[in-house]
Amino acid sequence: MTNDFNILLKKVILQAKSIGVPVSDKIEPEVKINSRAVKRFGRCILSRGRYTIELSSMLIDAPEKSCRQTIAHEIIHTCPGCMDHGVSFRLYAAMMNNAYGYSISRTGSREEMGIRQEENFRYAIICRKCGRKTMRLRRSSVIDHPSRYRCKCGGRLRIESLFRE
Ligand SMILES: [Zn+2]
Ligand SMILES: [Zn+2]
Repeated sequence: MTNDFNILLKKVILQAKSIGVPVSDKIEPEVKINSRAVKRFGRCILSRGRYTIELSSMLIDAPEKSCRQTIAHEIIHTCPGCMDHGVSFRLYAAMMNNAYGYSISRTGSREEMGIRQEENFRYAIICRKCGRKTMRLRRSSVIDHPSRYRCKCGGRLRIESLFRE
C-alpha cells in the first residue's frame, strides 16, 4: 500500500473546510515530493501567492493517518495568521485533532513524529537562470526586493518563504 499524496491532500482540505478551518483556496493540488529530506516530513511553501505542500518521500509507505496528519499540519499554515505556531494555529490544530483524532501539536512534526527538525531557514533565494539556491535565516533587503539584485551569473532572483513545520 502506498499513499497517494494528492488524493490525501484533497481529503484533508475537505476535512478542514467541513469543520470551518479556513484553509487557503490557493493550495496547489499537486503535492511536491522531497526525496532528500530525512529529518522533516512536511513543509508549507508560499511562493508568488500560492501554497505548495511538500512531503517527504518517507511518508509514501507510512500509515495513511500519519500522512494525513502531516498534511493537516501543513495546510493549517495556509490559514490567516497561521504562519507560525501561535494562537490561531493552535486553535485550528485543536479543531482538527478533536474532529479527526490527529495529534497535531504547535511544536510541529518534530514532536509529533519523534524526529528532529533539520534547519530553521525561513527563506530561499533562487536564481531563475542557473537555479542556484541560497538559504537565509531571516528577512533582509534582497528578500524584500529581489528585483534589485542579481545572481552572480546575472540571472534574476525569486524568493520562496519556507514555513517551519
Ligand atoms: Zn544564477
Ligand atoms: Zn508547522
